[in-house]
Amino acid sequence: MRQPFIAGNWKMNKTVQEARELAEAIVAGVQALHDVEVALCPPFVALTAVKAVIADTPLKLGAQNMHDQEKGAFTGEISPIMLAGWVDYVIVGHSERRQHFGESDAFINRKVRAALRHSLRPILCIGETLEQNDRGETEAVLAQQLRLGLDGVSSTEAAHLVIAYEPVWAIGTGRPATPADAQQRCAFIRQELCARFGDVADAIRILYGGSVTPSNAPELLRQPDIDGALVGGASLVAQDFIAIVRAASQKQTA
Ligand code: PEP
Repeated sequence: MRQPFIAGNWKMNKTVQEARELAEAIVAGVQALHDVEVALCPPFVALTAVKAVIADTPLKLGAQNMHDQEKGAFTGEISPIMLAGWVDYVIVGHSERRQHFGESDAFINRKVRAALRHSLRPILCIGETLEQNDRGETEAVLAQQLRLGLDGVSSTEAAHLVIAYEPVWAIGTGRPATPADAQQRCAFIRQELCARFGDVADAIRILYGGSVTPSNAPELLRQPDIDGALVGGASLVAQDFIAIVRAASQKQTA
C-alpha cells in the first residue's frame, strides 16, 4: 500500500515572512490528516523558517533543486551535504530546470545519485513537451528520461524514489492532463520501473503534476497508479493546497 503524497513546489515565490505564514496556514489545515504525507518545498532562503513551523508536525520539508557536487566553486549553488539531515526531499529534473537552465539527463542523474548517497529522497520529474506529445513520442520520452535519470540506481535505492509525471504542456497552464491520460502515463511509468527494479516498483510513489487544483484533484487522485500530486500554483494558496491534501486523504479511505 502506497501512502498518498502531496508536495507543494512554491518555486520562486514568497518572501521568508510570507513563507512562514503560508506554512502556518497549511499546518493548521492538514496536520490532523495522518494518512497523507505532505511536503512543502519553499525557496532555499525560507527553508529554515518553514522547518521551524513544521517542527512538531508530520509535515516534511523539500528543496526545489540541488547541485550534485558536495562543495566547490559553483557560485549560487546548494550542495547535498548542505541539505542532508535538513530536508527530507529534493525535487530533481523539474521541467523548468531542464528548459531554462539547460539541465541534461546526465546532470539530473548525477543529482539523483548524489541525493540518494546523502539520504535525501529525490522527487524525479519527467514529462513530455506538447510537440513530443503531438508527435506521439510521449512514452519514448518518459522511458528515456527514466532510463537516463535513474542510471546506476540500485533496486534498494529505488525504494526511496518518488517520480513525478509532469507533462510540460500542463504545468502552470490551467490545462491538466485528463485523469485517464494521466493514469495511462503513470501506469506506463510503473511498468518501466517494474522492468528495471522488479517488485520494488510497487512501492515507488508516482505523482501527477500539472495544473492540479481542488476541483480536478479528486478525480486525478482516484486513479490507481497516481499516488499523489506535485502542486505548483495551487500550493501557494493555503485553502487550495489543503483541499488537495484532503482529496488525497479521501483516496486513502475510499
Ligand atoms: C509544478 O511546477 O511542478 C507544477 C505542477 O505547477 P502547476 O501546478 O502550477 O502546474
